Amino acid sequence: MKDIMKAPFMTEMIRTATNMYAHGWDERNGGNISMLLDEVELKKYFNVPAIVRAIPTGFTAPELNGRIFLVTGTGKYFKNVQYDPKANLGIVRLANNGAEAEVLWGFSDGGKFTSEFPAHMMSHAARLAEDPENRVVMHCHPNNLIAMTYVHDLDEREFTRTLWRMETECIVVFPEGVNVLPWMLCGTNEIGMATAEKLKTARLCVWAQHGVYGAGRSLDEAFGLIETAEKAAEIYMKIVHLPILNTITDEQLHQLEKRFGVKAREGYLD
Ligand SMILES: [Zn+2]
Repeated sequence: MKDIMKAPFMTEMIRTATNMYAHGWDERNGGNISMLLDEVELKKYFNVPAIVRAIPTGFTAPELNGRIFLVTGTGKYFKNVQYDPKANLGIVRLANNGAEAEVLWGFSDGGKFTSEFPAHMMSHAARLAEDPENRVVMHCHPNNLIAMTYVHDLDEREFTRTLWRMETECIVVFPEGVNVLPWMLCGTNEIGMATAEKLKTARLCVWAQHGVYGAGRSLDEAFGLIETAEKAAEIYMKIVHLPILNTITDEQLHQLEKRFGVKAREGYLD
């Protein structure tokens, strides 16, 4: 058996959590990441059927039955992941149509998966239906995206158009735009279902006054989406109170579509 601490999925997860903390997106125990793993790959590192313990999830997700995820732990701090991955991360396999998560590795201090596990798993199911290559769902608390939800209209078209205008590359990185979920109680199946619904039409979903969800085929893709939207939000927060003399026009956004071969969300450009 190979050393699981050297597995690419593990080293990338640790690096990403560390980097997210360094960006200031994951204060205290804020934020969570889940990544769908490949069972064949996993078998190089341990005997997959060995179940350490099974934990009820409080929801069902038949489409994910038997799928295995590397996920951050509840109450765990991203800043500590690199120093004790086995306590702060876990590998779980969904069983009984998703009603149970079998811990296969990690959560070594008796902990369990993130409190946002329903939102993560429902989001994985929604994204996989749209893109069978999707692997990662990521949640964090970037300052400027949160700040923007206090001062900007939460209308998804308007919110997206503002972000697209803040930085030239935004429309290239997220041409489908950003969806926005008005404030809801977190940690519940209800916000999980609402988030999953939002992630059907975009890989980014802002949780108003809370944070953001990003999804992608890799940790880099999900991270890069959040990074780009957060940078645009930062520019917005720097300039919104100033007289605006210049902007990126819809005609210029159309030019970017053509140049980079992307299609802006239907109806989002004039
Ligand atoms: Zn949160």
